[in-house]
Amino acid sequence: MLSGRVLEGYGSSYTVLYRNALFSCMLRGKFRRILDETYNPIAVGDRIKFTKLDEKSGVIEELLPRRNRISRPTKWGPLKERIIAANVDQIVAVVSTKDPPLKTGLIDRMLLVAERENLRGVICINKIDLIKKEDVQTEIETYQNLRYCVNAMSAVTGEGVEELRNILKDKFSVFLGQSGVGKSAILNALQPGLNLKVREISDYSGKGKHTTSYVAAVPCDFGGMIADTPGFRDFGLWGIEPEDAGSLFREFRRYAGKCKFIPCSHIHEPDCAVKDAYERGAIAASRYENYVRIYESFDEKDSTFM
Ligand code: GDP
Ligand code: ZN
Repeated sequence: MLSGRVLEGYGSSYTVLYRNALFSCMLRGKFRRILDETYNPIAVGDRIKFTKLDEKSGVIEELLPRRNRISRPTKWGPLKERIIAANVDQIVAVVSTKDPPLKTGLIDRMLLVAERENLRGVICINKIDLIKKEDVQTEIETYQNLRYCVNAMSAVTGEGVEELRNILKDKFSVFLGQSGVGKSAILNALQPGLNLKVREISDYSGKGKHTTSYVAAVPCDFGGMIADTPGFRDFGLWGIEPEDAGSLFREFRRYAGKCKFIPCSHIHEPDCAVKDAYERGAIAASRYENYVRIYESFDEKDSTFM
């Protein structure tokens, strides 16, 4: 058996990368059992073992243990976990300075995904050519102070593209971000033809292209691979409780143990160390305010923050 990595899956057909070759693989029947609990038993980024049928196809026999995974609840039918990507190294939260305007609330939601799975969080501020860099200096500093990697860039002028390549090199990165921020343009700036490849692969599977939430990973010439996640505007978190949200804001953790009430929502309780820190400026106002908004947007129905 050979060990490969899943780049995309559609229906019961999976594209597996083995060395530099792609194999179109079906699943061994035993995986159908897992379908009762998860929407997709094998996800993008999974490491698997497969047997080769010929130079282009094979059968997936075994799923190797996952280091982590990012998931969504399914939107239709019975509520199940849908794994978006597995064995992820970092989340790249893509935003733009303008068109659409920069909203730190979106950055913080995307970072929750990274914190939840203990992944490196990268913030990519695109369209820096449309403003003066000073205009986003506060935002850059807020996240750099929290030890997140921040890259201000422009897919149009090329500023910051080489820096992003270095950040992505040899890692499996998942791009998140609302549509219009320039994710496709960034992919093309990183490696001309990369985005094209995404389309080709989707076309290859036939129906993928028409599925707005279709995810595929593409290997980069400079090393590593990227998964774009179109159609996940409201990227939520699977199965997380509101009480956990505070611990996913990394700078809250050092204060949370000192709150009078435990658990503490850090919103309404008296003698709350997090709220105190916010009031005296030790926690950035935007971060605390975004936290309150996220906390209050918890959706009981499917346990996500919308
Ligand atoms: P996506 O929906 O995130 O994939 O965004 P696109 O890559 O389709 O880009 C949306 C629009 O923003 C397009 O009109 C791009 O030409 C434009 N765009 C992307 N990156 C930049 C940039 O760095 N600067 C400027 N000025 N425009 C950009
Ligand atoms: Zn508190």
